[in-house]
Amino acid sequence: MEVTYGTVWNDCLEVIREQVEAENFNTWFKPIVPLRVDGDVLTIQVPSQFFYEWLEENYVPVLRKAIHTVLGPTGRLEYSVIVDSGNQTHPPVAVNYPNTLRRSAVNDVSSSDDYSPFTYKAVNPQKINSRLNPNYTFDNFVEGDCNRLARSAGVAVAKKPGVTSFNPLMLYGGVGVGKTHLVQAIGNEIKNNLPDKVVLYVDQNDFTNQFLDALQNNKLQEFQNFYLQVDLLILDDVQFLAGREKTQEMFFHIFNQLHQNGKQIIMTSDCPPRDMKGFQERLLSRFKWGLTADLQEPDFETKLVIINRKMKADGIEIPTEVAEYLAYSVDTNLRDMEGVLNSLIFHATLLKKEIDLELAKEVMKNIIKEIQTDVSVDFIQKTVSEYFKVELEALKGKLKKREFVIPRQVAMYFCKRYTQLTLALIGENFGGRDHSTVIHALESVEDMMKTDMNFRATVEELGKKLKMRM
Ligand code: ADP
Ligand code: MG
Repeated sequence: MEVTYGTVWNDCLEVIREQVEAENFNTWFKPIVPLRVDGDVLTIQVPSQFFYEWLEENYVPVLRKAIHTVLGPTGRLEYSVIVDSGNQTHPPVAVNYPNTLRRSAVNDVSSSDDYSPFTYKAVNPQKINSRLNPNYTFDNFVEGDCNRLARSAGVAVAKKPGVTSFNPLMLYGGVGVGKTHLVQAIGNEIKNNLPDKVVLYVDQNDFTNQFLDALQNNKLQEFQNFYLQVDLLILDDVQFLAGREKTQEMFFHIFNQLHQNGKQIIMTSDCPPRDMKGFQERLLSRFKWGLTADLQEPDFETKLVIINRKMKADGIEIPTEVAEYLAYSVDTNLRDMEGVLNSLIFHATLLKKEIDLELAKEVMKNIIKEIQTDVSVDFIQKTVSEYFKVELEALKGKLKKREFVIPRQVAMYFCKRYTQLTLALIGENFGGRDHSTVIHALESVEDMMKTDMNFRATVEELGKKLKMRM
């Protein structure tokens, strides 16, 4: 007997009938119309978007079993969804899932060259505007302890999008730790190495605004279809979808479809899914399906490399002393660092000034307000010595007993954070030590804070005490 779509679908119905109750069978499967069989792909037409989603949410195993039984293990199902049932003057409009690149001709309404994201038509992947900034690459993303896991997960995903178990990949961390840079690097890498893949970067703001626009203009279908054709979806700063029920709902559907079709999803957030508030539970649970990796505040070394690379890229020599000063002093975030460096480059290239500590301090003052404090070295030393119950003289002195060394290092650490003194000057305030001793002190405090939670709590408490007096 010749295999036609009619007989294929009838055979499928027989398999389905055995698995679902008669009432459900009549409601959800009877209305389906088989359209065609193309190789091992069966296309069926369903009456509405809702109908399609209901099937996908409730009957995937049933459908899969039917398709595999009838068409074999490589069998696949595609949907044609009627989104507009039409009238006498215009025919019904349908869209296809899941292979949304192969759209039915009725949707190919225009041939203008405008490939803005929400133009709804068959799209040549190369022409989609990925919204990526080509300047964010892996090459210029400095690796350090603070970002190693996230970076290597990113590299893995960039090699095999949608194939690794890192799907979704959720990267989280505070402001300016490199989330956007890293996810864009993944996007750029995929675009360069796998040109057939459709890559799209959106931040939550774009996503939300486009969604609201689509909602108002009755274009939800187009909105959703647009997103369903991507192979890699990057959604930046997803935490801002908190409390936005409808936007979340839409994202949930897009997420499910993409994930189910083996498409890669990458998200960033300011905290891990477990701490995210204002999200539907079902969405949060999906966020945890793949890999969640954090990016931490960059450590001294990483900052130093970032500074040196950036300056080198602009052909500017920066004295070690200045680079170290910046690496320690800019402890707000890397975006501020970027501002400081750009300003330094401006002074050096356009105003032909020499980059020295003087200039670095001047620039810092204008960019990072927080660092300007009145906390003096004396005050820090006094507070720290009282807190650890060591004599002020011992704190400032040269004795290398552990009970003095740690408070001394902590005091140096706060001098670096809360005053504008250079490393050399801080050293001078602690019995005339040189700047490398101060660097060593700062590093050991940071190391201990990483490994010893009690120590970290102590330092944080002290920091609060000091800040209260600022
Ligand atoms: P986030 O999205 O986490 O707020 P960004 O990705 O915008 O942070 O990073 C802020 C700035 O710091 C950007 O200019 C970025 O290029 C730079 N940056 C962050 N991390 C690194 C890194 N590891 N190597 C080089 N530059 C970095
Ligand atoms: Mg960002």
